[in-house]
Amino acid sequence: MNSRTKILLIYTGGTIGMRKDLKTGALKVFNFSKLLQRIPELKQLDCEIETISFHNPIDSSNMKPEKWTEIASIIASNYSEFDGFVVLHGSDTMSYTASALSFMLENLSKPVVLTGSQLPIGDLRTDAKENLITAIQIASLQQNNKSVITEVCLYFEYKLYRGNRTTKINAEHFNAFASPNYPALIESGVYLNLKSELFLAHNPAMDLIVHKDLDTNVVILKLFPGINKNVLSAIIGIPNLRGIVLETYGSGNATTEDWFLNLIEKAIAKGLHIVNVSQCTSGSVNMGQYEVSSALKQIGVISGKDITTEAAITKLMYLLSQNIPFGDFQTVFETSLRGEMS
Ligand code: ASP
Repeated sequence: MNSRTKILLIYTGGTIGMRKDLKTGALKVFNFSKLLQRIPELKQLDCEIETISFHNPIDSSNMKPEKWTEIASIIASNYSEFDGFVVLHGSDTMSYTASALSFMLENLSKPVVLTGSQLPIGDLRTDAKENLITAIQIASLQQNNKSVITEVCLYFEYKLYRGNRTTKINAEHFNAFASPNYPALIESGVYLNLKSELFLAHNPAMDLIVHKDLDTNVVILKLFPGINKNVLSAIIGIPNLRGIVLETYGSGNATTEDWFLNLIEKAIAKGLHIVNVSQCTSGSVNMGQYEVSSALKQIGVISGKDITTEAAITKLMYLLSQNIPFGDFQTVFETSLRGEMS
């Protein structure tokens, strides 16, 4: 590691910095400077660390696009000064934030590593120290004075994942995240095992572009046997709605009842973008593989392929803010922009 490597640690909140409210017993966020005092090990790392904190740190259940913009703006305004960024974040919505940031930060030449923990940093059995220390070490990795990682990642429980491929799978285990359709980029054991062939490549001719606008006129709709016409028409009729992430069965299948297909067809005709993602954790949408998905393909439903729901909804928010002509939208969505789909 280069001793001059500079890392900016951005604290947004989450369990990592929480402590128990003595009256209620519930976990609450607390002051960031106190958090750092609890990790004297950080001083031993061979890099310079500066810190910046949200004015009011949050439980990540309160995360929202304005706060993603805040994180992206902090990274943008400190971009030239630092070699890497580590974002401390609650685990509940970390995959959404990692996905959103991956679209908002185009042409990254430096790492943005999100991490957090299942137990507060002050807890005796905490997972926070390992997650934080290794996330910083990974963000500091340099080769020929250039960052080794040039994408938005998520580090948790000995694995570095591409952020927009992750999903939170467990509310109790330290191993809280999975990347079902893309392998881990780094595994941490006695050595850091880098799978460089999986990393997103950076084009040195391209400068960072920060996209701060996201369109939140979107919804996620999970199909279930018994969903009825009133429910679907109410959702499609939401004023100003522009996009739906439709969580379908298996490889992108849905009911073929007339009322359903007619409503979806009408929604697309009135300008809505409908993205088909699978309710299955692993595997890909493949419209046309079964008869029950052929009609969706014909009426212009977009294939989310093997994208996660978290990446699909944030990609929709991002692309809807980009003034893409309606006729081009499907092709752009179905193209992998930041390695979010195969
Ligand atoms: N509720 C917490 C949060 O997401 C959980 C965590 O940090 O792991 O902020």
